[in-house]
This record gives sequence, C-alpha cells and structure tokens, in this order.
Amino acid sequence: MSIAGNIQGLYEGLPAGVKIVAVTKTRTTDEVLELYRAGHRIMGENRVQELISKREELPGDIEWHMVGHLQTNKVKYIAPFVGLIHSVDSAKLLNTVNKEALKNKRVIDVLLQVHIAREESKFGFSVEEVRELASNFSPGEYPGIRLRGLMGMATFTDDSEIVRDEFRYLALLFREVSEILGNDGRYFDELSMGMSGDYHIAVEEGSTVVRIGSLIFGQRG
Ligand SMILES: *Cc1c(COP(=O)(O)O)cnc(C)c1O
Repeated sequence: MSIAGNIQGLYEGLPAGVKIVAVTKTRTTDEVLELYRAGHRIMGENRVQELISKREELPGDIEWHMVGHLQTNKVKYIAPFVGLIHSVDSAKLLNTVNKEALKNKRVIDVLLQVHIAREESKFGFSVEEVRELASNFSPGEYPGIRLRGLMGMATFTDDSEIVRDEFRYLALLFREVSEILGNDGRYFDELSMGMSGDYHIAVEEGSTVVRIGSLIFGQRG
C-alpha cells in the first residue's frame, strides 16, 4: 500500500469529525511530502529538534503538533508556530507555554497528558492532579493558552480489554473535567487517544484525534 492509499483508507474507516495527526518521527522529508501531496496537513513529532528541521524543509501550510515529552527549556523553539501541544504534563510546563506564547503574541492550544497506563515510565499528570488543576483553573491567569482537552496513552499490551478500560476511564475524566471547568472550558473539546495499534478502540471510546505513524508510513526501522 502507498502512503496516499494508507491515509485514505484510514479516513474512510473513521467517523466524521475524528482528526488524524500523522506522526512523522524517523520518516524522511520525501515520505512526509508524499503524505502532503495526498492532501494531509496535520503532522506530529515527538522531538523538538525533528519538529523544527522538518518544518524548515516542508511546505509552510502544514499544521505541526507536538506529541512527545516536552522540556520547559525547549518550548521557546516551537512556540512561534506549534498548532497543538498534546503533551503538557506538568503545571510548570503549562506556565512556560503560556509565557512563551505571550512573547510570540500567540495563544497556543494545549492538551493535558494524563497517565493512564500501567507502565511506570510514561509521562503525564495523575488523575488527581488533573482534577485539581481543573478546579483551580482560571483562563485569565493563562492568556497565552487555550485548554483544549486531554491526551493519554494506553498500556502497551495485546489485551484489548485493558486498553479499552484505560481509554474509557480517560473519556470519563474528560467529561468530568469539562464539567469542572464549566464556562472556563468552552474550548475544551479534544480527546487525543489512539495510535496505530489501538486507535479502533480509542475511537469507540470517544477519541476525537488519533496519532498515527506506522499505519501510514509503515513499520519504523
Ligand atoms: C510514535 C508516537 C505515535 C504513533 O505511533 P504509531 O504506533 O507508529 O502509530 C503516537 N503518539 C506518540 C506520542 C508517539 O510518540
């Protein structure tokens, strides 16, 4: 299958309104261009350096998302252009994104990354931390950001029931946080969950944006 065929097949299988972030990490400029020529415009990277170099080499109308762990000292490099940061995983990072957005006279869309998987190593807020942040959230304190929703990664396992439970739990938290935020959550409408191996389940559980690499570009080497 070609890259163009893969993305078309993916869109055909998704409910209307679910967006695809094509995760381009480790892919060549030519591979990403092939996807671009097929009409796709939303790309994601998990490393700042790769995000910046790809953006320089590729057409200017691509919407670039940051999907991987972001260090506070690197926010300044992506703040001028990033379309959505999926991986805000601490209050400190949220503050830094706000500051860097203001320096660039921008408002940056962010998702809070929540730790839902069983693995210890993954980044993210705990469920309790997200509830607390939402309870104390006042948009006036963060004029440089728009809180757009939540992101989470399920446990890496073949057991689809574990994966489904984790996505369901995140979707519940998403609704709960939306209620906590009330009118302060008027932009809170995105739930980023699902990758190549588990996006079907994620979408069934309410995902609005899936982050797909391998199913578009093939297995990473
Ligand atoms: C690599 C990556 C993906 C995509 O993974 P695939 O299994 O190739 O679809 C999604 N989200 C994040 C955060 C990633 O780092």
